[in-house]
Parts: sequence; C-alpha cells; structure tokens
Amino acid sequence: MIIIKRAIICFILLDNWLHNILKKYILKTRYKITGKCRMCGNCCKEILLCATPAQCRNILFSTVATKWIEWIFDFTLLKIDTKEGYFVFSCKKQLPDGTCGNYFWRPSVCRNFPLVDYFKEPVLLPGCGFKAELR
Ligand code: SF4
Ligand code: SF4
Repeated sequence: MIIIKRAIICFILLDNWLHNILKKYILKTRYKITGKCRMCGNCCKEILLCATPAQCRNILFSTVATKWIEWIFDFTLLKIDTKEGYFVFSCKKQLPDGTCGNYFWRPSVCRNFPLVDYFKEPVLLPGCGFKAELR
C-alpha cells in the first residue's frame, strides 16, 4: 500500500513542480517569498484546505475528499468550516518537537507554504520566518 501511495504522491509532486515553475518563471505572481523557515511547526498544527461552502456542506463530497486526504497525506480531519469553505486537518507526521517526520515525502500543500496566489497577498502565520515581497 505504501508503494501505491508514494507513486500517487510522485504524480502530485510532479504536477506541483510544473505549476510552480509556471508561477516563478513564466506567468509570474505579484508577490514572491523571501526568508527562511524557523521550523517552529505552527503551520502543521492546522492545515487549511480550501473548498467552496457548497462542497463543504455536501456529505458525499466532504466524506470522499476527507477520506482521500487522510489516507494519501496522513492527515486527520479536525473540522469543516462550511461558512468560509475550509477542511481543517492536523498531521500525523509532525514530531513532538514540531518538525516534520516525513520531510522527503511531504505533500505539496506543505511544500507550497506560504502559498503565493495570483490574486491575494500571501498570508503568513505570526512568527513565521518567511516574508512576502512584491517582485
Ligand atoms: S507532512 Fe510534515 S510539513 Fe506537512 S504538515 Fe505534516 S509535519 Fe508538517
Ligand atoms: S510557520 Fe513559517 S517558520 Fe514556522 S514551520 Fe511554518 S513555514 Fe516554517
């Protein structure tokens, strides 16, 4: 089962890598991330995955999406924010000192934090070692 999981993650990471090349070198985002991770682990405590409020309220969609994400990324569902449209997870791979116990195979959502969007200024957690700067 672990081999199947890792093969799927390889495809997800390849897709993520191509998407990030596009954002960095071709269709550039307004903001870029500078600085360095302080390894505080705050961003691993509550992982917010965006969905629409309608998707969050749909029992079939939310059950299938939650089970899939819990299995593929070793996350655990904490809550579903149906108002704002977020699935909120914790991670089974976070070590007691806050660092990542699965660094090589960590999911794209972890690799992309802080997320640089095309339309919004990146949101950073208090005390994060990264900064968002205009290009
Ligand atoms: S896989 Fe690692 S980086 Fe990602 S949420 Fe879990 S502990 Fe954090
Ligand atoms: S909140 Fe920022 S500094 Fe802390 S672990 Fe996450 S990315 Fe690193």
